[in-house]
This record gives sequence, C-alpha cells and structure tokens, in this order.
Amino acid sequence: MKLLTFTVNGRTRIGELVGDTVYALAWQDNMRQMVRRGIVANRAYERFPLESVKVEAPLMPSKIICIGLNYADHAKETGAELPKAPVIFAKFPSAIIAHGDLIKWKSEITSKVDWEAELVVVIGKKAKDVSEDDALNYVFGYTIGNDISARDLQKTIDVQWTRGKSLDTFCPLGPVIVTRDEIENPQALKVTCKVNDHVMQDGTTADMIFSVKQLVSYCSQMFTLLPGDLIMTGTPAGVGAGRKPARFLKDGDTVTVSIEGIGDLTNQCVVSDK
Ligand code: ZN
Repeated sequence: MKLLTFTVNGRTRIGELVGDTVYALAWQDNMRQMVRRGIVANRAYERFPLESVKVEAPLMPSKIICIGLNYADHAKETGAELPKAPVIFAKFPSAIIAHGDLIKWKSEITSKVDWEAELVVVIGKKAKDVSEDDALNYVFGYTIGNDISARDLQKTIDVQWTRGKSLDTFCPLGPVIVTRDEIENPQALKVTCKVNDHVMQDGTTADMIFSVKQLVSYCSQMFTLLPGDLIMTGTPAGVGAGRKPARFLKDGDTVTVSIEGIGDLTNQCVVSDK
C-alpha cells in the first residue's frame, strides 16, 4: 500500500495512492498517529486525482537518525575509511519538506549544497534492544529521502555535521510511504539521483555495508525508536562533492531521487542573497 499525506480544499488528510488516484482514508489527518495505532484505516468515499491535491511530507517524526558512509563506493569517494560500525548523526525534523516543495538556502550561509539519495525506514512501533532477526517487524514501511548537505558547513567550518545537514528545507521526504509488506527485500532496490537531466547517482541498496535490519537493531540498542521515527540509510556514490570537478546545486536546479518500488521525489532549488 502506498500512503500519502495530502491537502485538498484546505483540509489535510491521509490517503492511499492507487495509480494516479488518491483514496482518502476515513477520519485520518495525521500519519504518525495512524502509524502509532498500527492499523491502516479504511477508505472513505472521496477520491481525488493526484494532480488535484497538494502532496505534503508524509509525516513529522520525533527524530531522524542518519547513517553516514553506508555504501563502500561512497565512503571511498569522500576519502573516508570503511566504517566498522554504523556512523550515526542526526538531522532536525524541522528540515523536512514535501515532494514539490523548494529547497532554499542563502548564499551567505553556504555555497556547497549537495544531494544524497537515500532509502528511508519508517519505524512502526516502539523498539528498544531488538534483535536483527526481529528488527523488520518494527518497520512500518519505507519512503524516499534526499539528505541535502551543506558541505562547507559540514566539512570545513563546523567540526560536526548537525548544522550542514539540518538547514531548513534540507530534508525532502516522500512522496509516499510504501508499507513493509510491499517491499519483499529492502536490500534489492535501485536508488538513483538525477540533477536536471543528468544521472548523478545510480546504485542499489544491495551495496549497503549495514543492512536495514542491522541498522534498526543497532540503533535500538542506544535510542528508543518511536512510531514514525525515520532512519536514513546512507547514500551510494555520485554525490557532488565526490565528482571531479565537484558539482554543487545551483539556483534553478531540479533534483529527483528515485527508488524502485517507492517512486520519485522531486524538488527545485532556490538560492537567495540574504
Ligand atoms: Zn546521508
């Protein structure tokens, strides 16, 4: 099932996407609450063509846990060593925007804005100290994320990554959450990123160093995972900073992250002086 949060006629609701039709779900306006209850509601009577609704970010989590350097070819392009355990950092939920929203930044804050195509795990129920074998039972579903990163803040100005990863609008998410039952194997999905018409990243989740079930289990040893929490699972090779010469996002660029079985997440960039 493909679930989305959408606004139509001034009202925000939850729906099921089938082809290009959105079927509203009965009495639902908050995806995180629905995930917490663990039951996907029945369809209401209304349905809408997808192009007639405003797609919203699927949900607002209590936390976004990000995994760095989780693909060997990406670790190599950044000059980092292969991690022996998952590299964990955070992104503020206030950075989340929807499919179709603008990625915006000020040129006086950063001039090295980069893309990172990522499979995102949506946690379904409270998870603490879960085993790898049991970990996927705590997953509600999967969505798409673009871990937009200000490389100058991340690498040269700050000594850690929080600011460069958390600027407002730096977490495009969605457009849909695909429920776990529809993704037979999360380690066999094609992940790509296009900037305008150029394919920049062309990878597969088969190349993750730490798999989804390892990441859920590992994170749950340290942080209680709550319904709706997100784990961004890292990005394959082909980010702008790793290219020769380096290529960063510019005003007017359009970035599309695509993941097999989930869909396409597209956002345009707007740069302002102040
Ligand atoms: Zn990332």
